[in-house]
Amino acid sequence: MGKYKAVIGLEMHCELKSNSKVFSSARNSYNEIPNDNISAVDMAFPGILPVVNKKCVKDALKMSMVLHCKQPEYMYFDRKNYYYPDLPKGYQITQMTDPVGTDGYIDIECNKEVKKVLIHDIHLEEDAASLDHYFDTTCIDYNRAGVPLLELVTEPCLSSADEAVAFLETMRSAYKYCDVSEADTKKGQIRCDVNVSIMDPDAKELGTRVEVKNINSFGNVYDAINYEIKRQSKLKDEGRYDEVEQETRRWDEDAEKTIRMRSKVDAIDYKYFVDPNLPKFKIEKSWLEEIKKEIPLLARERKLKYTSEYNLSDYDAGVLVKEIDYAKYFEDCINIGIEAKTASNWITTQILGEINRDNLNINDFYITPEFLKQIIDEVNKGTISSKQAKEIFYKSLESKKEPKTFINNDMAQISDKNELETIIDKILLDNQNQVEEYKNGKDNLFDYFVGQVMKNTRGKANPIITKEILKEKLK
Ligand code: ADP
Ligand code: MG
Repeated sequence: MGKYKAVIGLEMHCELKSNSKVFSSARNSYNEIPNDNISAVDMAFPGILPVVNKKCVKDALKMSMVLHCKQPEYMYFDRKNYYYPDLPKGYQITQMTDPVGTDGYIDIECNKEVKKVLIHDIHLEEDAASLDHYFDTTCIDYNRAGVPLLELVTEPCLSSADEAVAFLETMRSAYKYCDVSEADTKKGQIRCDVNVSIMDPDAKELGTRVEVKNINSFGNVYDAINYEIKRQSKLKDEGRYDEVEQETRRWDEDAEKTIRMRSKVDAIDYKYFVDPNLPKFKIEKSWLEEIKKEIPLLARERKLKYTSEYNLSDYDAGVLVKEIDYAKYFEDCINIGIEAKTASNWITTQILGEINRDNLNINDFYITPEFLKQIIDEVNKGTISSKQAKEIFYKSLESKKEPKTFINNDMAQISDKNELETIIDKILLDNQNQVEEYKNGKDNLFDYFVGQVMKNTRGKANPIITKEILKEKLK
């Protein structure tokens, strides 16, 4: 902590998953061929009419609810007018007057503390085309034009780079849990603007904010915030705080610093007005109820459940909720009767070990919860040892044959109670002196009897049942 308080507000853009674009019927999918996913609407040909994609509206409303926002009564869009080569219409269809969500919050966890992040609003809009710059030319690729984009804006309520990244991670996870976006930063599906200012700890008014635009990785968000805090603090220390200007900067990854792009003192007037081509429609309460039911328990809530209900460690629970599919696999295990701690151990070590090493999808993993149960049941019955269990796990995985095909009589332990009793009776008869000593208080002789049984059966006696019988007979 420096001597000033840092104040941070974020604008986070996330591309939504959908078959077609938000206002046109062109495909919305990753495509390496430029200008392939396009329609006349995306190209802004004369006479075009946009049509709103219902799935995108639904997903936007879902995220609005995840953020505990107020939803508007009517859905409609505004035009944000400006000229840029990646915006052929000369305006972006977005939401200004009545966004899909306002005045929300979400709890995040940062350094083991819970923090409420306040959400100013969340709105649905279209992405712009992308410009590919070459040595002496720039090409325009319209594939991205019209891709559904959700933008959320936080209040200036974050106070460190750690908190900012924790918030972004929480949101990325929420987008994925709700299955509305792949939320992959590497594919440019998440982009952020960060606003940073500093102030004296007891000051009443916020300092001058600097906006760092279009950051494409959380690591860069972290570095850009810390760089800005340092830069602004230094100027303030030197009595030159008036040189901190309300401006737009960008993060230069190679130089590891922010670089001024333009002043932001006079806000651009975008001459917003309601888009007349997209008739407004009512958001029915019943629809909202339906959408709400589709919101899954999110990572943080699930983690709390795992630690409190199943007594898992914070760390293990954290690993299991990292992806909703891991969490689902774990819960499937519980639902078919595998004990929670046992399931967690197998998943966090063996299973995720394989998944991460080979970059697999857990849903396609050969050892399903049912197969895992075949193995665990045998361990619980005492038929196989935990070492044998692991061997069977890998054999099954390698050969793609059910685990139970590897559980054979050869490794089977003697678990038959009568058979074991006969063996044990004989041993106790042959060791009458030791029995006497044990009964007189020499407790550690118990292991001696177990050892004798093992010797007699060449290690095949089921240790759990053996001990039970011994305890009974030596009472
Ligand atoms: P703009 O269109 O200028 O980007 P927005 O209202 O969309 O404006 O975004 C403003 C962002 O700046 C919000 O995330 C808000 O929390 C943040 N912000 C506002 N004032 C400050 C401040 N003094 N310090 C840091 N962040 C701020
Ligand atoms: Mg902005």
